[in-house]
Amino acid sequence: MSEPSLYKDRVRVYPRAVRGPARTFKWVVLAFCLTLYYALPWVRWTRGPGQPSQAVLLDIGHERFYFFDLEFWPQDIYYLTGALILGAVSLFLVTSLVGRAWCAYACPQTVWTDLFMLIERIVQGDRNERMRRDQGKTTLDKVWRKVVTHVAWLGIAFWTGGAWIMYYADAPTVTRDFWQGNAASQAYIFTFLFTASTYVLAGWAREQVCTYMCPWPRFQASMLDEHSLIVTYEGWRGEPRGHGKRTPEVVRKLGDCIDCRACVNVCPTGIDIRDGIQLECINCGLCIDACNEIMVKTGQPKWLVRWDTLAHQQARAAGKHDPFHLLRPRTLIYVTALVIGFVIMGVAMANRAQIDIAVQHDRAPLFVTVRDGSLRNGYTVKISNKTHEATDFAIGLKGLDGAAMAVAEEGEGRMPVLTLTVEPDSVGTYRVLVFGRPTKLIDGAQDLIFSARNTRSGETTSYTSVFMGPGARASR
Ligand code: SF4
Ligand code: SF4
Repeated sequence: MSEPSLYKDRVRVYPRAVRGPARTFKWVVLAFCLTLYYALPWVRWTRGPGQPSQAVLLDIGHERFYFFDLEFWPQDIYYLTGALILGAVSLFLVTSLVGRAWCAYACPQTVWTDLFMLIERIVQGDRNERMRRDQGKTTLDKVWRKVVTHVAWLGIAFWTGGAWIMYYADAPTVTRDFWQGNAASQAYIFTFLFTASTYVLAGWAREQVCTYMCPWPRFQASMLDEHSLIVTYEGWRGEPRGHGKRTPEVVRKLGDCIDCRACVNVCPTGIDIRDGIQLECINCGLCIDACNEIMVKTGQPKWLVRWDTLAHQQARAAGKHDPFHLLRPRTLIYVTALVIGFVIMGVAMANRAQIDIAVQHDRAPLFVTVRDGSLRNGYTVKISNKTHEATDFAIGLKGLDGAAMAVAEEGEGRMPVLTLTVEPDSVGTYRVLVFGRPTKLIDGAQDLIFSARNTRSGETTSYTSVFMGPGARASR
């Protein structure tokens, strides 16, 4: 007996055009998302001299991320972590309330696939025409329509890849350099990669990305429950399904579903919503629009396919009413987590430091005994000036008796407080010598706190390092 094949050929999906509220909402979100993506790099933002004038820019060369008035340094990575966590919890909340709304309307795979399908429909016609042509012989008409479709897809894919690199460099400059052949090689490589991936994923792979490649459908089930709003088919009302006009006699034998398959024909993933909840269903609601059209035509009540909860469906099937339960343990947990997360992020952002100091003790020598009997330790002090002006920082010390400092390159004029200047939006690096008479050495070391104060704003920060003396080990 031959082994069953583990491979199944893809059944090509030919979604039919449909009209209705779900489709209209999908167009609106699509237009918003695409406009945002393509236009955002061109939005200008004034930050002052020497600063980039692009509102949203990930400047990898200078290790900065600009988002309108906000500027993030590499050490601010935990804000990105916080934003990702808040985004994930928001997605959990939305999913638990209204199912796969993200997949249905805002996921880039959905948005670009929808756009590519629109092009295909404009050039090659609607479902039946496309199917007929694909199954027919190769003709000039078929060839030119296919060529125009793919050229249009490639054009959009290229535009998409080109827009991507504009988030990493000044948009007007990188556009000019790109066409003059002067852009960095990475600009060409990433444009090519994004062009290729957009063309393949939205033009060819389509629903297979959602069904086989994306992990989200696998674990979104854990966020759904019987009170989540999803696209449902009222089987208790529609079955037994059957063709034909609904005369009083037919109505006694058949349900409202006339088995026209309009709901299947418009589905972008090619499934039949009447089979119940399926992993492939992205909850787009196009089958609702399609079925409502049919219900109107056949003079039956609309919403045989509808957004509903499973609990509500079961109650309706039993002739009861079950109200929607927005407040449930899982939604309350997500809302609480979001509120706490937003408060923490808000407070952290409001108190975000404009200065930072990092200090590294010299590896060798660990200390030097100077002529007056005090000890000298050497440090590399890095001061981050996140303001847009050259700034003087007063560097002080705490924890060491008689402590004094000198900048290594400037001789040994010892001062209790050093004033160091750092250029705008940059890190100033100084080698600093600290002199003192340690009295609290444990195993040859004691804490030494460096403080940095912005002399203009008064903002202060500190860093705890060590001061070393006899008995110190190099491993500190
Ligand atoms: S079954 Fe309906 S809601 Fe689900 S993907 Fe298909 S058209 Fe969209
Ligand atoms: S569109 Fe409505 S009536 Fe037609 S097959 Fe689907 S559920 Fe039945």
